[in-house]
Amino acid sequence: MDFRLSDDQLTIQAIARDFAQKRIAPVAAELDASGTFPLENIREMGQLGLMGIEVPEEYGGAGLDTVAYALAMIEIGAADTATSTIMSVNNSLYCNGILQHGSEEQKQKYVRAIATGECIGAYALTEPQSGSDASAMHTQATRNADGDWVINGKKSWITSGSVARYIIL
Ligand SMILES: Cc1cc2nc3c(=O)[nH]c(=O)nc-3n(C[C@H](O)[C@H](O)[C@H](O)COP(=O)(O)OP(=O)(O)OC[C@H]3O[C@@H](n4cnc5c(N)ncnc54)[C@H](O)[C@@H]3O)c2cc1C
Repeated sequence: MDFRLSDDQLTIQAIARDFAQKRIAPVAAELDASGTFPLENIREMGQLGLMGIEVPEEYGGAGLDTVAYALAMIEIGAADTATSTIMSVNNSLYCNGILQHGSEEQKQKYVRAIATGECIGAYALTEPQSGSDASAMHTQATRNADGDWVINGKKSWITSGSVARYIIL
């Protein structure tokens, strides 16, 4: 078995390292202290292909593999764990969920916008009374007489929850 990294994997690693050291590390402590969401950096990371690393190119992603994703995450996380958490939710919980279970129309609309950095996605599972035990969640979606969905419930700890355009719930 050949354990050497491919050219594509080395390229995304270098892109992530460069951005992390030049743009994230210098402002990480300041953003942490002020509780500021790194919106500008996240958008730029999307343009660099870091928000949809495993997303196929036809849906706006970089079309790379899981090793490439892990290499990029290591670089971003070394500069700022908060930024890498946002990146991780966009890449895996959000994009992978829709890629695996969404329709073609949903993939084009909801994955492309996140993978390209146009906007931010979130994944809302945790509730005040249920974390690991997700089956204890209370949130419910019910259809009203007009055929619209009404969602009632409380969520907590949702990464990017306050800034996300789309949320998997
Ligand atoms: C930085 C951060 C970002 C997050 N982002 C998101 C997000 O984007 N979306 C989202 O939905 N949630 C998010 N969460 C919430 C996270 O998913 C939950 O915190 C996690 O699921 C654990 O739930 P809990 O905190 O309620 O702890 P609990 O589930 O109550 O667990 C408490 C402790 O008990 C242990 N434990 C739990 N069940 C068992 C068991 N059956 N057997 C043995 N031990 C057990 C756990 O390992 C842990 O040590 C985030 C949390 C953090 C800290």
